[in-house]
Amino acid sequence: MSDPKIGIYGLGTMGAALALNMADKGIAIAASNRTASVIPEFMERAGDLAENITAVDDLKALIDALPKPRNLLAMIPSTGPMDAFLDDVIPMLEAGDTVIDAGNADFHSTRARAARLAEHDLHFVGLGVSGGEEGARHGPSMMMGGTDHSWSELKPVLEKIAAKFDGAPCVDHLGPDGAGHFVKTVHNGIEYADMQVIAETYDILRNGLGMDLPAVADQFDAWNDGPLGSYLMEITAKVLRYDDPETGKPAVDVIRDSAGQKGTGRWTVIEAVKLGQSATMIEAAVAGRAWSAEKPLRELAAKAFGEDRGALDLDVTTIEAALRVARVLEYAQGFRILKAASDEYDWNLDPARIAEIWRAGCIIRAKMLDDISAAFRDGAPEGQLLLASAFRDTIQDGIPALRQVVGTAVAAGLPVPALASALAWYDTMRQSRGTANVVQAQRDFFGRHGFERLDAEGAHHGPWWD
Ligand code: NDP
Repeated sequence: MSDPKIGIYGLGTMGAALALNMADKGIAIAASNRTASVIPEFMERAGDLAENITAVDDLKALIDALPKPRNLLAMIPSTGPMDAFLDDVIPMLEAGDTVIDAGNADFHSTRARAARLAEHDLHFVGLGVSGGEEGARHGPSMMMGGTDHSWSELKPVLEKIAAKFDGAPCVDHLGPDGAGHFVKTVHNGIEYADMQVIAETYDILRNGLGMDLPAVADQFDAWNDGPLGSYLMEITAKVLRYDDPETGKPAVDVIRDSAGQKGTGRWTVIEAVKLGQSATMIEAAVAGRAWSAEKPLRELAAKAFGEDRGALDLDVTTIEAALRVARVLEYAQGFRILKAASDEYDWNLDPARIAEIWRAGCIIRAKMLDDISAAFRDGAPEGQLLLASAFRDTIQDGIPALRQVVGTAVAAGLPVPALASALAWYDTMRQSRGTANVVQAQRDFFGRHGFERLDAEGAHHGPWWD
């Protein structure tokens, strides 16, 4: 067996899948896990691929198995365990070695860890990996942040294991330190918004239009064959068709309506706000999950106020057009956050390239991403997808449909927080004169905060202070 190109530490769901992907692509690797008893079972799973894997019992042996400069990928929780891992590993490494955190990390932690390792002449890579276990095993989309040295070391490995879109690997070096993890975070934020919008559409079809579940699944399948084609659309159609083996009822009807979240959606919202941005659709999705978790409160409120909802009079063509424009707006919001962070941290992120590496392997892969990358390549004004000429028709044609869907749902009492926030954002952004003049007057009245005038430079106060 040739020298391992990379060491994998952490053979849980994602680490094992990435390790097997590498071995499958003919890349020699070394692998280990904190709990060594997991390793024999992993090697058994590897089958014939075991010939490309040097399995060792502990971290020291893993590091010793790697040629220098070493590349050591950790797939463990990116929180406290990652810092404890770095405490252990730093003294064992030598100048020029690279440590890769392939978990879902807060990019601030990644920046701090990169700075910490740089003090030891070590490189730290924040590698965003999307696609879940299946993607990790057969081809994820990957967003790399780190040094040029680390990229030159890792590029051959990552390009081999990445998902391919028309033969092009869905991985790139996006910027330094936390850039990759930040892009992965926003990817997940967009994922939250897309899932929420699809769930709202399911509610409209099933409960608003009264379609039965197989018909809803057929509708999602039909949309998946058109411009709305995406992984999330495809799997939604699939899950709606499963029955619960214990009760025989549709699986979705026995699942408690309380959504979990691990934090990346929330991080996206927090970072957006810190950057002076907003991403209302992602906020709505995070809020939707938080409200869903308050099931006891919702049950009380349902008793107190009733949960009647009127039937909706909408056709599926209108709903499809609304969904299309909502998806454009959710991507537009996500890319705005990326642009703001890129400006703030001097990352020089390339939105067209990011859209390209999201076209396969990741959870938000969608046909529309090809058009989005093309729109950015053509030069979207101010770097804003909202203004890209390629999407002007989709937006102009889709907004009346979105307005009809949101208006009808709101009138009937059917909650559509993400769809409604898309419309509110669009309508706000197309007003050259908004309402913040009134907010500024209020602020000046109660706090002497001052305001700018349209017709003069400088700070001013209102006549209420004369
Ligand atoms: P698992 O729970 O399946 O595996 C966790 C791994 O981390 C195990 O190998 C475990 O070792 C190891 N580990 C846990 N705590 C420590 C510690 N203190 N020191 C050393 N090793 C430790 O998790 P996943 O594989 O799902 O997730 C791993 C990372 O990947 C996370 O950051 C997650 O956010 C990220 N991720 C997960 C995705 C998914 O779809 N699951 C998608 C993209 C990213 P042991 O066997 O000893 O417990």
